[in-house]
Amino acid sequence: MLRTHTLKEASQLDGVEVKVCGWIHDIRVLGRIAFIILRDRSGFAQLTLIRGILGKEKFKEYTKLTRETVICARGKVQRTDQAKLGFEILPEEIEVLSVAETPLPLGVADKVSADMETRIENRFLDLRKPEVLSVFKVRSAILQGIRDTLISKNFLEVHTPKIVATATEGGTELFPVRYFEKEAYLNQSPQLYKQILMAAGFDRVFEIAPAFRAEEHNTTRHLNEFISIDVEISFADDEDAMRVLEESIANGIKYAVENEREALELLGMKWKEPELPFKRITYDEALSIINKNMDMEWGEDFSTEALKVLGEEIKDFYFITQWPLEIKPFYVMPYDEKYSLAFDLMYREKELSSGAQRNHRYESLVEIMKGKGLNPENFEFYLRAFRYGMPPHAGWGLGLERLVMIITGVKNIRECVIFPRDRTRLVP
Ligand code: ATP
Ligand code: MG
Repeated sequence: MLRTHTLKEASQLDGVEVKVCGWIHDIRVLGRIAFIILRDRSGFAQLTLIRGILGKEKFKEYTKLTRETVICARGKVQRTDQAKLGFEILPEEIEVLSVAETPLPLGVADKVSADMETRIENRFLDLRKPEVLSVFKVRSAILQGIRDTLISKNFLEVHTPKIVATATEGGTELFPVRYFEKEAYLNQSPQLYKQILMAAGFDRVFEIAPAFRAEEHNTTRHLNEFISIDVEISFADDEDAMRVLEESIANGIKYAVENEREALELLGMKWKEPELPFKRITYDEALSIINKNMDMEWGEDFSTEALKVLGEEIKDFYFITQWPLEIKPFYVMPYDEKYSLAFDLMYREKELSSGAQRNHRYESLVEIMKGKGLNPENFEFYLRAFRYGMPPHAGWGLGLERLVMIITGVKNIRECVIFPRDRTRLVP
């Protein structure tokens, strides 16, 4: 066995012999005694090296090890008030598994201060920093909480194709790919496919998968590849979809609070499970709040500045409902001539999710499509599903990284992805 305990497990013991492994976070030599701070995913341990016990040779060998070298240490755990962590390990033997070269291209023991570029270029080192790792611990926990919620509500987890022939919304934000003799695209959203699954009688589905957007703009909240959590529900309206969304988010946060308390503390975030239901305001109400500070026309999408104004006023999660039909995609259900059954979920000034009751009526769908300048022939594979029995349905798409940004408090969405894809970055 390479190791018997993680460092966290070892921290609970006293007087027990263990074999632990990890990276040398720091090393301090004080004459005849030396301290190695060992690190693994679970935490830290102090290895106390005493020359009188180890002998001259070993002491000399071990104290020359470089930071970030991977070692295993065999020795007894001992509780002590002298160590900051409340315990220490007294190694009898240290095995060197992989030596770290010097100098390090990015310090791990140092606080996060390097610029984003250097950090991403040396991401494997950057990710060794406990506060950087914390983001991914929280991300994993949020996902687990959301997945548990949906599974408990009898949703079926599905996967739809990411290489597709048509744009979801006929937009320009598409990455073309060569597909043998044809031109294809990376999918922007599973929207059309999850709707087809409603016609298939799948009743309620969710998908957690990448979505690709060829957005040229470089912002702190846009990626070119992100994880979209998508839900579609049969025999449901916009209000049903909003309830599933707010419950998923509340449970995602709850799961993170219960299971990643230390990670959240390290990130300086104090969350408790949010209270439901989230506030709901209509587009018109949002517009009148915004227009106290600026001049925005009815029927426009909210600009970044407008959302800032709104976010100053409403400091929590909230839905914006009853959007003008015109600025929402063709597949949303009209409420009347002017308004739709679409909603956005916001947290302060950030959009987290867009959803709607969908238009399941074939003729009306085709007409609206044409009105938006789309050619129904290009959507034949989708429209077919509406002609042979399509139940009313509703759903949403939630950007995982946007949610992780909010819960972890990081300022740049790139920090919520292990290997982000942005306007200029394709490696690593
Ligand atoms: P925005 O207006 O913020 O660019 P959007 O309205 O274009 O977003 P939708 O098509 O509604 O985005 O996608 C649903 C959700 O997917 C968004 O609410 C957001 O959480 C997430 N999302 C969309 N585009 C991106 C992106 N480029 N990077 C990260 N997340 C995204
Ligand atoms: Mg949107």
